[in-house]
Amino acid sequence: MPNNLKIVCPCGHKVQDPPLLYQACCERFHSNALKANSPEQLMRSRYAAFVLHLYDYLIATHHPEFLQGLTANTLAQSPETHWLSLEVMSSSSTDLDGKVEFQAWYKDDSGINAIHEISDFQCIGGQWLYTQGEQFDAIFPKRNQTCLCGSGKKFKQCCL
Ligand SMILES: [Zn+2]
Ligand SMILES: [Zn+2]
Repeated sequence: MPNNLKIVCPCGHKVQDPPLLYQACCERFHSNALKANSPEQLMRSRYAAFVLHLYDYLIATHHPEFLQGLTANTLAQSPETHWLSLEVMSSSSTDLDGKVEFQAWYKDDSGINAIHEISDFQCIGGQWLYTQGEQFDAIFPKRNQTCLCGSGKKFKQCCL
């Protein structure tokens, strides 16, 4: 587990300003103290787990029938991604399944880009699990909108 719990949660969940600390947000799910109560909460905790390299959590929250051989080891060996932020665009659910549309922003040598996905989730025995997702092209902010890297600057003055 990360030893510095005084960080702002990587998932960026904001009930009010300032955003929640990791301890008050996804750490509760990562440590199994609480179960995510919605697909969006699970999705946020999975994004935070990617940022914090909590690969066992990613496997534990991935529906076993959809893993297709994925293991914590293969996740750990994939190239390091420099994650910037998570943008949840919409989410919906019933008691048994749900969807979350999000963009997970990252930076690489060619600039910023996002995984834009509509993910499907199922609730099995009170535990939300990721099943699969459909990916789309990233939708970038407008020039005058706030940059997604968290700098607080306008996109055109920052990562554009
Ligand atoms: Zn969080
Ligand atoms: Zn930026």
